[in-house]
Amino acid sequence: MLQGLMMDTPLLVGSLIDHAARWHGDREIVTHRTGRPDHRYSYRDARARSARLAHALRQRLGIGSGDRIATFAWNSYRHFELYFGVSGIGAVLHTVNPRLFTQQIEYIINHAGDRYVFVDVDLVPILEALAPKLPLVDGYVVLAEEGAMPATGLPNAIAYEALIRDLPEEIQWPVFDERLASSLCYTSGTTGNPKGVLYSHRSTLLHTFAATAALSVSRRTFDAILPVVPMFHANAWGLPYVAAMVGAKFVLCDPHLDPSQLYESLEREGVTLTCGVPTIWLRMLDYLRSNGLRLNTVEALCCGGAAPPRSMIAAFEEEFGITFLNAWGMTESSPVCTTGIPRREHDAMPQRIDYKTRAGRCIFGVEMLLVDDDENELPMDGSAQGELLIRGPWIAAGYYNDAGATNAGITADGWLRTGDIASVDHQGYVTIRDRSKDVIKSGGEWISSVDLENAAVAHPGVLEAAAVGIPHPTWSERPLLVIVPKPGVRLEREEIRSFLDGRIPKWWMPDDVVFVDELPHTATGKISKRSLRESFANGGVPARR
Ligand code: AMP
Repeated sequence: MLQGLMMDTPLLVGSLIDHAARWHGDREIVTHRTGRPDHRYSYRDARARSARLAHALRQRLGIGSGDRIATFAWNSYRHFELYFGVSGIGAVLHTVNPRLFTQQIEYIINHAGDRYVFVDVDLVPILEALAPKLPLVDGYVVLAEEGAMPATGLPNAIAYEALIRDLPEEIQWPVFDERLASSLCYTSGTTGNPKGVLYSHRSTLLHTFAATAALSVSRRTFDAILPVVPMFHANAWGLPYVAAMVGAKFVLCDPHLDPSQLYESLEREGVTLTCGVPTIWLRMLDYLRSNGLRLNTVEALCCGGAAPPRSMIAAFEEEFGITFLNAWGMTESSPVCTTGIPRREHDAMPQRIDYKTRAGRCIFGVEMLLVDDDENELPMDGSAQGELLIRGPWIAAGYYNDAGATNAGITADGWLRTGDIASVDHQGYVTIRDRSKDVIKSGGEWISSVDLENAAVAHPGVLEAAAVGIPHPTWSERPLLVIVPKPGVRLEREEIRSFLDGRIPKWWMPDDVVFVDELPHTATGKISKRSLRESFANGGVPARR
């Protein structure tokens, strides 16, 4: 055996903000908030304030290594400081999704054993109602100036700015084992309680290197990044870490933005890379077209979390000249596992956009396997469909404090079951066919709800569509298509069915088409098929007014 002679520097989250402050110190972090002036400062300032926060956590709140600190907050510079100040001292940043049901929030905070919760002013009332049921929480830090503190019944409440006041702006982050936990994020399963994904410093840094490489589509990709994805969803897909690693200008927005405000932010800040779920981009596309606008600086638009419709990809690529990056991943995988940059030879092919609809190819560090129901390996030949299994250094090996879920989610030989049905072609392009729970099972065959939705969204009057399986006495399930028409457009059931004729296999034809004003979305912005199925079981989907 011969040991290598290289330095054994641990991979720690604190080093990211050190790097950004040292080498990109003047780059801006901008926070846009509805009804309030923008907030701007530099990476140098962000590091100084993360350091003050770190001192406050230790000296004023008695926080040490391994303690969990929850955030209950939207995207902002203070949330960014928590990313580095908490993890930097070896404590664990637990980002809680404020859009979850209150019972889930209560469960998650108690299950994680969070000691403090850092909460945005507008979210204080939610926690006030829950606080009596959160016995492990010592106190609450409101993300505000002292003067902006709301009158609150939260126990031991203090303003963030008061907490970090008069503390040193310098810090030497402690050096510890890179395998220690850095952050925690709960993912809501289809059944049972949410499950905690506990990232380590090592997994986070390795994922950051990989995601940076995977998202880089041109020399300018990282000029300015705007994550529409919230900082409580899989660490905003790792983008706060990526931004610090590459020293990108980082633009953080209020989550309540409508497409016009998002457009304003993208244009005003010269954003080059922006990332979010398909619903956001469908609405943006409609806004651009209705107002005859273009996105003048965006080079790459990254879309993940659910399958983007082909027609939308084609529009961004061909009408607007923007590189559309379809990326696949999940909370358990940090999340980036695949991205969709086609090979150069595909550029000239008529199927170019088809390649873009695929989730791309596996990035280095992630391994993938396709298996059937009995966990037999399936060929990656473009046609065999099965469950996707993954493993690698930024994939969860189990769930936090939950032995039962761990056993269910991980195979005997250490692969994570994704619950996604996929096929992989000869060139390695992954196509996500469906979630295993969303696939429509009709007459012993599968109908891809994703393909059906894509076909429907190609209709010029359709804004958004969802396909769900409805119980059927003969076929076990038949598809129901639920459609949100574009504003001012009236659509008829038969018009949609004849549009789909020839675009989908005949037996996929939805038995019924329902028009609604809005589709239910999950707490992470995806269409909630579960709610749709439940509404149907309880007497039908509320139709359009
Ligand atoms: P979450 O853990 O909430 O981020 O959800 C992860 C799930 O979102 C995956 O298991 C997929 O079902 C879905 N998903 C993520 N990215 C994509 C994509 N590019 N195409 C299709 N489905 C996706």
